[in-house]
Amino acid sequence: MAEEHCQICQLMKSKEGLVVYEDEGMKALLLDKPSSPGHIRLFPKKHYTIFEQVPDQEVEKIFIVANKISTAVFEGLNMQGTNILVNNGVAAGQKDPHFTIDIIPRIEGDGLKLDWTPRQLSDDEMSTVELMLKPHTETLGVSEEPEKPVEGKKKEETIKDENYLTQQLRRIP
Ligand SMILES: [Zn+2]
Repeated sequence: MAEEHCQICQLMKSKEGLVVYEDEGMKALLLDKPSSPGHIRLFPKKHYTIFEQVPDQEVEKIFIVANKISTAVFEGLNMQGTNILVNNGVAAGQKDPHFTIDIIPRIEGDGLKLDWTPRQLSDDEMSTVELMLKPHTETLGVSEEPEKPVEGKKKEETIKDENYLTQQLRRIP
């Protein structure tokens, strides 16, 4: 879905909504239909559909701001907790095709349901999940160095990239 049809982009351009924070790159609004009073939605001004599309530097900045908003919620609203929530992809409950972070104020006994019933995996299920995940996680790491340009990508790598893109598109709402 393109920017012009995105509700978050439209909301950002309009003067609607109670702005609790804004800078050149992001904006945070107080929701008028919240899960609990003080529920805040923070989003980058650029239209990124899902989390994976947000550049690392912006991820860093937006989570720093999310943390500060969470602190403001604790102190300003006398809350006992916050949920910092990213619904990433349709299957995860993402409604708008624009990456957002929700900061939800919590107080003991507020009755908000975000929990789930854990189920015990068998050893087989655990090792299957581990095997599938490992090739994708063992190269993870945050580097301070700028990425080196890749010279002459092998065919195999190109195919991998295509698969990655297709997988990513499937998650886009
Ligand atoms: Zn948008």
